[in-house]
Amino acid sequence: MRLCWNSPVLTIINPATEEQIARLERAGIDETDAAIAAAKGAFPAWRAVAPADRARLLRRLANLVEEHGEELARIESRNVGKPITGARGEVAMVASVFHFYAGAVETHRGATIPVAGGEALTFHEPLGVVGLIVPWNFPLNIASWKLGPALACGNTVVLKPAELTPLSALRLAELVLEAGIPEGVVNVVVGQGSVVGQRLVEHPDVAKIGFTGSTEVGRQVMAGAAATAKRVTLELGGKSANVVFADADLERAAAAAPYAVFDNAGQDCCARSRILVERSAYDRFLDLLVAATGRVRVGDPEEDATEMGPLISAAHRETVASFVEGEVRFEGETPDGAGFWFPCTIVEARNDDRIAREEVFGPVVAVIPFDDEADAIRLANETPYGLSGSIWTRDGARALRVARAVESGALSVNSNSSVRVTTPFGGFKQSGFGRELGLEALSGYSDVKSVYISTEG
Ligand code: NDP
Repeated sequence: MRLCWNSPVLTIINPATEEQIARLERAGIDETDAAIAAAKGAFPAWRAVAPADRARLLRRLANLVEEHGEELARIESRNVGKPITGARGEVAMVASVFHFYAGAVETHRGATIPVAGGEALTFHEPLGVVGLIVPWNFPLNIASWKLGPALACGNTVVLKPAELTPLSALRLAELVLEAGIPEGVVNVVVGQGSVVGQRLVEHPDVAKIGFTGSTEVGRQVMAGAAATAKRVTLELGGKSANVVFADADLERAAAAAPYAVFDNAGQDCCARSRILVERSAYDRFLDLLVAATGRVRVGDPEEDATEMGPLISAAHRETVASFVEGEVRFEGETPDGAGFWFPCTIVEARNDDRIAREEVFGPVVAVIPFDDEADAIRLANETPYGLSGSIWTRDGARALRVARAVESGALSVNSNSSVRVTTPFGGFKQSGFGRELGLEALSGYSDVKSVYISTEG
């Protein structure tokens, strides 16, 4: 278990076994300041690296992540309790992210703008030192979404992983140096959010915070950044709707739905934790959903066949359990013994029940009937969040109408996937602002400079 909050030693455990897997020194204000100073010192030389050379270094890092893929996946699986197959996929994505931003370095160009009396040019300048604060659910993956564009633009970084899951970030920092990226460009500081994270947010030498985490902490980050007018990108919580119309391929929609909410044990900001089903298909869909959920393989995350592991901690398990009330339609099996296990749970609910309003961040789904297209859109939007969601229908025009009407940053039709390296990802409403991934992320890690050159005698 973790030692007490103020201990200088941090004990890292495997949530599937409750065994200790590492002991680390916990950083405080001094270590954070030292990391910021190192990043500041490294900035002038890093921004001056020729774009093609910066691209080459990022590509080397991508190759190293691929070469060490199995090792990184095992680290992530043991620290987060996530199934090894999923962890392998996440590490593969990390490599793809670095490959993508290696390719993006040389495309991040300015423009020439014709103006009276001369010419105007624009440049995309790096911001300087950026602070990257990431959560425990996809530690390496989410870190790479920020590191890729930040480094591509010529910034130096201080990365703060969540205290529960720092191991993959620490290993990545070693690979960064092995790739030839100079010392000081990437700094990893392991410590509490309220100490290390807050220091990054308040420090005058940090130009921007890229944050992923809860909406509550996101608000604090935004407020704290105001004092130094820092830029912020916030990727926050979600309560996404999986909207299933009666004309959909119900078998396919129901077979896919469990993985849209129970994947990563529901600890996913994109979890489709509300399934809205057209009333005429409700009973049929629910039967299919229960059958499909019963087939989800829950168990040892290190087994290739496992599809769902435990929750991250005992405290989080208590929080998740507090949401389960009302009409529980299905509760799955979990292993006996050690580990923070929680069963796949299906609850029939109304959209104003707590389970349908708040982010559970566990394997619990609320199933809610709707009457028609307008009702589906109303229910989908009746939430302060707007991160993700799905629409299942065979009617293409309806799919587009509903996709345009749902207030959410990343939607999928007849699919539940939200995230791709090449497409922008981020929230509407209280799910945050700014975009990660795709070429859009580059604008979050650079400022546009406009230079006017007079051509008059
Ligand atoms: P938290 O918001 O508690 O923590 C996120 C990160 O912020 C951690 O590294 C944490 O450090 C740090 N932190 C905590 N307090 C502060 C502070 N005062 N100042 C600066 N940093 C701080 O979220 P969780 O880690 O619990 O992650 C789960 C949440 O993240 C869910 O709500 C989920 O929806 C959201 N999330 C959103 C995603 C998105 O892309 N939109 C993706 C993944 C998760 P530490 O924990 O070490 O103290």
